[in-house]
Amino acid sequence: MIKIYNSLTNKIEEFIPLRKNEVSMYVCGATVYNYIHIGNSRPVIFFDTVARFFKYMGYKVTYVSNFTDIDDKIINKAKEENVSEAEISERYIKAIKETYRKLNCLPHDANPKVTENIDGIIQFIDLLIKKDGAYVIDGDVYFDVSKIADYGQLSGQTIENLMSGARIDPNEKKKNPIDFTLWKKTEEGKQWDSPWGLGRPGWHTECVVMIDSIFKGPIDIHGGGLELKFPHHDNEIAQSICAHNHKIANYWMHNGRIDMSGEKMSKSLGNVIWADELLSRTSYQVYRLLILNVPYRQPLDYKEELLVQATTDFEKIQRTYVSLFRKIDLEFAEMSPTNGLVDSELLSLQSAFIEAMSDDFNTANAITAIFAATKHVNLLVRHGKTEGDVLKQALKMLDGMLWVLGINIELDRLTNEEKELIFQWQEARKNKDFTLADTLREKITNKGIQL
Ligand SMILES: [Zn+2]
Repeated sequence: MIKIYNSLTNKIEEFIPLRKNEVSMYVCGATVYNYIHIGNSRPVIFFDTVARFFKYMGYKVTYVSNFTDIDDKIINKAKEENVSEAEISERYIKAIKETYRKLNCLPHDANPKVTENIDGIIQFIDLLIKKDGAYVIDGDVYFDVSKIADYGQLSGQTIENLMSGARIDPNEKKKNPIDFTLWKKTEEGKQWDSPWGLGRPGWHTECVVMIDSIFKGPIDIHGGGLELKFPHHDNEIAQSICAHNHKIANYWMHNGRIDMSGEKMSKSLGNVIWADELLSRTSYQVYRLLILNVPYRQPLDYKEELLVQATTDFEKIQRTYVSLFRKIDLEFAEMSPTNGLVDSELLSLQSAFIEAMSDDFNTANAITAIFAATKHVNLLVRHGKTEGDVLKQALKMLDGMLWVLGINIELDRLTNEEKELIFQWQEARKNKDFTLADTLREKITNKGIQL
């Protein structure tokens, strides 16, 4: 049984998919006016791991994440550089997709863009107006939050307390200060024709429309960073209730933010670590471990020590993996397991991993389970009499667990000549001929073979 902390109910709930053995997921993606920093990469890595775990458990997963390619920040950047908005958004979509790939994320099933969904957005806003949930004032369209009884449910707010805290701008044309923009009349940036005049859509509408156009109805999981809970996700829910009478997703999931040595990380504070910059200093495997070492709902306070720790962690896992792989390659010619996972010890190690991941995707405990597995594997490798089949099962088990975390360890099998060299080295060590052993060891290392 997979359990999920549902942000909508603030409870741990059993995951029951809308369709048996299938999972539909949508995660709000980047606004494409810049590269992504490690804070932005946390949901990318975490939800990729969620999708991987569902696949590992045999589910068919459809995972969609958008690109917001209409935004004031894009318009400003285009002005600054004196280029078109399309040039800015295409540049960063390309760069961000490349970062996703470098982080070893599985490709999404779709990456919809706002500019490709304008017709759908206009139709949707029109529907909201017809259902009396939105109103037009002078070319702008606003959503009337007073029409939704439990508006603010996701973030735990009520219309009353939102109203009392709202700043009243005397120039505002809307009925209530907390009503939000669906369509904005504007002279700035690219504009589209609509029944209300030239303008562009507001941010909160795009995800509702893209989800509906791809999934044609409610989905299982809607995810994103904690900072999106309000107003973005509450506004998505309000529109969906008005238009379709459902709350978009049965499970809402939010990851905690990443701080920088106790301070909020933000582009304006200038204390940002770019994802690509970190990837140039370390491997994606270490990067992913660094993120996944902290349970996703907790804030992650980035410090260099965390990078050092994740590096040590990965090296430990890698050492075990390499020694197991080499032992099978050297001593048991056929690499594929002759049986599925049947060894009882391995099965129980695997269940501990599955249990941790099933507990609201507790990746920190899942990594602990991987360490327990590597400890056992080390014993198997050292023990001279372990059957080849058990070793192959152990490799399959490790491969599966690491795949869920998005960590691959790729090794080439040895050539006969290389194997011969290793046998000679092992023989020399057995005979305590250390001079020969050292020479052979050097040859092996020079060939780039990890042992
Ligand atoms: Zn969104």
